[in-house]
Amino acid sequence: MIFGRRKSDDSFDAQRADMVEGQLRRHGIRSERVLDVMGRVPREAFVPDRHRAFAYADNALPVEHGQSISQPYMVALMTQALELEGPERVLEIGTGTGYQAAVLAALCAAVYSVERIPELAETARTRLADQGIANVTITVGDGTCGWPEHAPYDGIIVTAGAPKAPQPLLNQLAAGGRLVIPVGDRVSQMLKAFTKRADGIREQDLCACKFVPLLGAHGWSEREA
Ligand code: SAH
Repeated sequence: MIFGRRKSDDSFDAQRADMVEGQLRRHGIRSERVLDVMGRVPREAFVPDRHRAFAYADNALPVEHGQSISQPYMVALMTQALELEGPERVLEIGTGTGYQAAVLAALCAAVYSVERIPELAETARTRLADQGIANVTITVGDGTCGWPEHAPYDGIIVTAGAPKAPQPLLNQLAAGGRLVIPVGDRVSQMLKAFTKRADGIREQDLCACKFVPLLGAHGWSEREA
C-alpha cells in the first residue's frame, strides 16, 4: 500500500515509530502484523488540522461533531483482538475519522464501515481515498443494526460504547467470527470480545475503557445524546 509522502512528514515518521515502541509494544501489544501496520498508517492524516501536532499522543483526541479518535493503544488492542490473517471481511461500526478503518484495511481483504453522522462519513471517505486505500466501503446509517447486505463478517469492531452487544451484530458474525465492543454505561465500559462458536457465544473481558456512546435502535437512545 502506498501512503502519500511529503518532506515535512519526517517528524511524523519518527513520532509514529516512537508510538509503536513506547506505547504499543511497551503496553503489551504483541501482534507483529498490527505493530507493522500502525507503524505505517499516517495517523496525522486522519486527525483534524488543529490537533495534528498531537496525532501521536498517548490519548484519544477530539474530532469533528463532538466525537473522538481512539488512543493508539486502544486501536491496536481492538485490532489485535480480531486476530486478522488477511482474507477476512470486517464490519466496523463508527467510522469517525477513518483511522481505525485504514488500519483494518491493511490487515484484511475488505472493510465495511457504518457511520451515523453524514459529514464524518464523507470526510473519512476523502481521507482514505487520499491515502490510496480502496478496500473500505462506508455507508451512513444506524450501525447497531449492522449492515446485513454484506454479512456474514469474520470480524466486527464497534468503536463506540454500547449498553450491551447488539443482537443484529451477533447475528451477522460468521461461524468462528469475533465481535469486539466496549460494553457498559455511557461514561465507562469494559472492552469485550464475543466469539461465535458451534456451542454458543464465548465472552471475554479485555480491558476497561471510555468511548463516546453508541446511539441507535440497539444502543443508547438518541434523544438523550
Ligand atoms: N473508529 C473511529 C473512532 C470513532 S468515535 C476512528 O478511528 O476515528 C465513534 C463514532 O461512532 C462516532 O463517529 C459516532 O458518530 C459513531 N456512532 C455512534 N453511534 C453510531 C451508530 N449507531 N452507527 C454508526 N456510527 C455510530
